[in-house]
Amino acid sequence: MEIDVIKLQEEYFSEALEKIQEIIQIPSVRSAAQPKAPFGLGTKAVLDYAINLGKELGFKTYQDPENRYGYVEYGAGVEIFAILGHLDVVPAGDLNKWDFEPFQAQIKDGKLLGRGSFDDKGPTLINLYALKYLKDHKYQPDYCIRLIFGLTEETDWASIKAYMAIEGTPTLGYTPDGEFPVVYAEKGIIKADIIGGSEKFSLLGGEAYNCVADVVRYQGPHLTEIKTKLEQKQIETMMEDDCLIVKGKASHGSLPERGVNAALVTLATYAEVKTDSPIANFVKKHLYNDFHFSQLFPTMKDETGLLIVNNGIVEINAEKTRLTLNMRVPISYQLKDVEGPLGKELKNYHLELRNISWEKPIHMPIDSPMIKNIMQVYQDVTGVKEAKPVAIGGGTYAKAMPNCVAFGAEFDINESTMHAYNEYVKISDLQKMLEIYTKAIPLLTTK
Ligand SMILES: [Zn+2]
Repeated sequence: MEIDVIKLQEEYFSEALEKIQEIIQIPSVRSAAQPKAPFGLGTKAVLDYAINLGKELGFKTYQDPENRYGYVEYGAGVEIFAILGHLDVVPAGDLNKWDFEPFQAQIKDGKLLGRGSFDDKGPTLINLYALKYLKDHKYQPDYCIRLIFGLTEETDWASIKAYMAIEGTPTLGYTPDGEFPVVYAEKGIIKADIIGGSEKFSLLGGEAYNCVADVVRYQGPHLTEIKTKLEQKQIETMMEDDCLIVKGKASHGSLPERGVNAALVTLATYAEVKTDSPIANFVKKHLYNDFHFSQLFPTMKDETGLLIVNNGIVEINAEKTRLTLNMRVPISYQLKDVEGPLGKELKNYHLELRNISWEKPIHMPIDSPMIKNIMQVYQDVTGVKEAKPVAIGGGTYAKAMPNCVAFGAEFDINESTMHAYNEYVKISDLQKMLEIYTKAIPLLTTK
């Protein structure tokens, strides 16, 4: 199907931009459940807005009576092609750290400013207007295309889980909640805890499985010696009463090598001083300065790279030991390939692996029609002929359903302001997105 790009940008983009500004002004952070608003009134308001907009634009829509999700539909096919966006946003956080009002949606220097502008209200409404163009120009897909509005992507995915339980699994789909050109592979993710018995010291710190534990508090024997050894390793320490505060550097759990893990360096240092701690000995041997468990899994590697392991939380005291692991597993391997050898090795230290969860990998072959079509459109629109589909550590919204990939909407993930203060999207990037999605949807939904 021929797309009139000038008409698309002049007529459809200007209206899309106005509506994106409006929807940013609804602060759709998840909050306490209310009647008919299980994820809070903000998410209910944003769903009402999107469904009403879909109706105004002439689409068939559906809004879950409990307001857990909703969608806009186009096309008469039997099979569903899903476009999975989300309308919830992360909190703005400390307002003093913003240079502008996060929910005003101002436009300045070619940028649309605001929480949700990029993640994911902008890309979601751009997809709505891509569909609007296609509908107005009588495109007939072989699928029933559903633009699904998720409401809890930033928290527990209860919204899309409700959709899947009630509506069933779409045949194929994408989410505009990752990066361009397309993420064809995402590693499987294991979350688990190393559990053990009591220790002679206490060590507490860290906040989440997928962040590097950047500040920990140590109390216990050999404090001065440990402090001196940490300083020799250029680690910042501070005394607070009888407690040693150890400062590392935060980083995302997919990039632990960019951070400094305060828990692991403290435990490894303890093990240098004293060999009576199972967890410290284990950490010194397997985790300190080794982001791949390379002694246990020396050959675990494929086109998506090595196994990546991160520790996020540590909780050790006179009663128990708990050290969390967040592991990103190359797509050719399964949970059991890691669980078995790791569990066996932990036993040697009187430790065990518990609270294990497994998020399956995503793999859409590079030569599948889906990936080939997306790459062709992306290269045509952007002119970047050398662009290649990417493999990542995993964790995009695409994992919510099988046969789904992340397609856009970040052009440069290193410059991403998603979840950061001063979130914005370049107007020119939104325009590029509209052209890419409008051209891609017909290719992806014709059999
Ligand atoms: Zn998102």
